[in-house]
Amino acid sequence: RATAEKFEFQAEVSRLMDIIINSLYSNKDIFLRELISNASDALDKIRFLSLTDKEILGEGDTAKLEIQIKLDKEKKILSIRDRGIGMTKEDLVKNLGTIAKSGTSAFVEKMQTSGDLNLIGQFGVGFYSVYLVADYVEVISKHNDDKQYVWESNADGAFAISEDVWNEPLGRGTEIRLHFRDEAQEYLNESKLKELVKKYSEFINFPIYLWASKEVDVEVPADEEDSSDEDEKPESSSSEEEEEDTEKEENEKKPKTKKAKETTYEWELLNDVKAIWLRNPKEVTDEEYTKFYHSLAKDFSEEKPLAWSHFTAEGDVEFKAVLFVPPKAPHDLYESYYNTNKSNLKLYVRRVFISDEFDELLPKYLSFLKGLVDSDTLPLNVSREMLQQHSSLRTIKKKLIRKALDMIRKIAEEDPDEANDKEKKDVDESNESDEKKGQYTKFWNEFGKSIKLGIIEDAANRNRLAKLLRFETTKSDGKLTSLDQYISRMKPGQKDIFYITGTSKEQLEKSPFLERLTKKNYEVIFFTDPVDEYLMQYLMDYEDKKFQNVSKEGLKIGKDSKDKELKESFKDLTKWWKGTLASENVDDVKISNRLANTPCVVVTSKYGWSANMERIMQSQTL
Ligand code: ADP
Ligand code: MG
Repeated sequence: RATAEKFEFQAEVSRLMDIIINSLYSNKDIFLRELISNASDALDKIRFLSLTDKEILGEGDTAKLEIQIKLDKEKKILSIRDRGIGMTKEDLVKNLGTIAKSGTSAFVEKMQTSGDLNLIGQFGVGFYSVYLVADYVEVISKHNDDKQYVWESNADGAFAISEDVWNEPLGRGTEIRLHFRDEAQEYLNESKLKELVKKYSEFINFPIYLWASKEVDVEVPADEEDSSDEDEKPESSSSEEEEEDTEKEENEKKPKTKKAKETTYEWELLNDVKAIWLRNPKEVTDEEYTKFYHSLAKDFSEEKPLAWSHFTAEGDVEFKAVLFVPPKAPHDLYESYYNTNKSNLKLYVRRVFISDEFDELLPKYLSFLKGLVDSDTLPLNVSREMLQQHSSLRTIKKKLIRKALDMIRKIAEEDPDEANDKEKKDVDESNESDEKKGQYTKFWNEFGKSIKLGIIEDAANRNRLAKLLRFETTKSDGKLTSLDQYISRMKPGQKDIFYITGTSKEQLEKSPFLERLTKKNYEVIFFTDPVDEYLMQYLMDYEDKKFQNVSKEGLKIGKDSKDKELKESFKDLTKWWKGTLASENVDDVKISNRLANTPCVVVTSKYGWSANMERIMQSQTL
């Protein structure tokens, strides 16, 4: 187009497109769900704006919040149209080519190692998946604030934008036209498209229509030359008078008209827009929850979520919610932990999508959860900022945390691997428990750090979170164990929970601090994650038991009758040592109760940093 203004794709975007175009990835289906997901996002945006400004929706068809899919088999074009917010010319330039999203390079990197395009939507670059199936794409868009424009590109490093003087006016919204590549013929098929919508876009909250062909029976005048109808005898097509004379039975055999097939088109609704979270949890199947999770999380890895919780909260603040524990942590969960506040919950008010960037819904440490909240209590016609301040949000948050922690606790409870030794025999060996086997370890490996961060940050739920902690100990035999299990194995008379911190279990096992404890058959927890040092500054006790770092002052293990005697007889020696060692280096010299073979150890004072903490702090400042 001569009038077009040309732009170059930003370098990372261009690389991404190259990878997509040349990808051998076999599951090219994903392009459709990405386009439908974008259409749905655009519809959510205009619906949200219409809450405070009704006019914005426009009139007639323009006001219809729906998605339409149309296939032109001859021209090999598929178009997906929405009446969402649309894009101004500037939006088209920025969103579709020049401003790379933060996920772009992360995704490019991932592509080069795994080649798995399935997660493209999670990285915020789903649009470009159109080039899996198309070699030329047009995006026609009309935003309320601008004219209608066409964006086009055949993915050769550049795109063009022109004012649209060719297509019919959209009213408002976006139409994406894919000109299929020769290898993508399989999508020139309505049933294939229906199948894909069913599979991937079932939970889109706007109606999705397909311009579907239908074979209908029509009556056409019986024609002499037409011999396609075998029942028809040529001589039967006679004059009207003759026909009137014939008997009834005969009449049926010699109709004036005959049946024929004709193809007509009409909009066929492909999805059921009843929101899953409004249904009774008892009537929703596991498979439906799994599929709903996939569409909500844009996680199409086909893996089942580790757990979910679907509930209704009643009382002052009413809401429905569905929470999911994903099967895997996202690529940047802890990378961005301290700089972003992004929660993964979608907030709806009375079925209307409001935002997925409300960090007031869940604390940071639970930001790995996916899900949604739909509240009838929150006001609809206020700005996002005002909603953010609404007092009900605090109540919602509190309840969500409780439910989330319950849900996580249940993963452990239902996992046969988690059972205490004495309960082990009772665990039934059904298929169900088979499926739950090892799930908590899986959870712990993916999200354990979040639980620890929770203990540090959320004083109100510290005890609940501590219950979810897992670690190895001197007695756990390479397996993970919990505080409850530790307590159940405590020796009679043992008051404290013993732990030691360090870089690895192997290193800690050799520690002289453990000598006497091990000899006396006490169990000691190994904390080997750097975050554990911080964790233990917040976790002082559990179920009335204090935590004792065995490398610190104050270790008390069952009284030994000889202790006092030893203390007395070595009094002079310890005094001499203390005087000899400079007082800025040591606080005290004592007879140790923690050694068996090693002659002496350096112990940290009760309130000071452990040696491990010193090491961590040093590595951070260096
Ligand atoms: P994401 O949807 O994760 O933001 P995409 O690559 O799928 O990433 O889309 C990029 C951007 O292009 C979107 O954020 C949106 O601003 C814009 N966009 C894409 N499709 C549409 C559409 N149908 N209507 C309006 N804007 C759209
Ligand atoms: Mg998208």
